[in-house]
Amino acid sequence: LSPSPRRPIRELPDELISQIAAGEVVERPASVVRELVDNALDAGATQITVRLLAGGVRLISVEDDGGGIPREELPVALKRHATSKISSLQELESVGTMGFRGEALAAINSIAELALLSRTSGQSSAFFLDGRSGELKPAARGTGTTVEVKELFFSTPARRKFLKTDATELAHCIEAVRRHALARPEVGFAIWHEGKLVEQWRACPGEAGRDQRLADVLGEDFIEQSVAVDHGAGGAVRVTGRAGIPDAARSRADQQFCYVNGRYVRDKVLTHAARSAYEDVLHGQRQPVYALYVEIDPTRVDVNVHPTKIEVRFRDSREVHQAVRHAVENALAAPRAAAAAALPP
Ligand code: ADP
Ligand code: MG
Repeated sequence: LSPSPRRPIRELPDELISQIAAGEVVERPASVVRELVDNALDAGATQITVRLLAGGVRLISVEDDGGGIPREELPVALKRHATSKISSLQELESVGTMGFRGEALAAINSIAELALLSRTSGQSSAFFLDGRSGELKPAARGTGTTVEVKELFFSTPARRKFLKTDATELAHCIEAVRRHALARPEVGFAIWHEGKLVEQWRACPGEAGRDQRLADVLGEDFIEQSVAVDHGAGGAVRVTGRAGIPDAARSRADQQFCYVNGRYVRDKVLTHAARSAYEDVLHGQRQPVYALYVEIDPTRVDVNVHPTKIEVRFRDSREVHQAVRHAVENALAAPRAAAAAALPP
């Protein structure tokens, strides 16, 4: 192979930059669902409705009753690195919102047909923005935002080919919403597919909301076969949630949910800590079930590690590991856990 002749260095066109970024952020329809639900939550929504066609490939629509986007900002929302959530490095260090990179809408707009329909409480009308043509016109809806994404990957057939069946993509979309739902019991969620309601989790406000939501999403069994975790109140790392009794362990690690400051994460420190708490009570390849919510000073965790923000880095991972391990160990050692574990199968 002879090397091709060198071409001069050029800046890539904006559209191509967004498409490259989209490759990192949007792997499949579920990635779009996750980003749009993140945005709805950041906007203060209390009810979020997700509508899908063909597993999300033909249509993903996410409707919320949050604060909306003012008319003049609608076109800005689709620009790369445009965000209302941070404006300085200092704010990045202590970010409390799900989003902050200002990337998702621009990325999605470059690989699908995106439209925004939004109304703030101060406006007398909603406005509709077509992401392709840039057309902006008055429209009807109450306060809040609907983001519509059609024909995902229409311009990137290589990615489109990697998609699985509609049923599999739908399952991933539902899983994405489920992860949000477990973190935000006070918000109601509904998922429609091909015009049918496939999941609905009603808002569960108040103290008991968390357990009610866990029961609604994971089933009553999850609550009956788990114990409350509450550790480190007032300390640097607080861990709450529920840990399954050893008998509730499964062959697959499909009911292990970890959150850091309300964000669903996949993190080796957390999963290792949780697993090690079961060291003496769970043998072989059995996988414990749990939903653990870690609250930590935002300056002690870096969420800007991965474009999808599913990975985090702790400033002191030993401290977090210990907190999670102790939290789960203590919960499992509590009398109720011992009694439940002793029940005949
Ligand atoms: P980020 O969430 O990182 O800020 P996005 O590209 O996801 O970036 O969104 C860009 C901006 O558009 C957000 O900062 C927000 O101001 C606005 N926005 C997006 N979705 C919504 C929504 N559902 N409700 C209100 N504002 C929204
Ligand atoms: Mg976002």
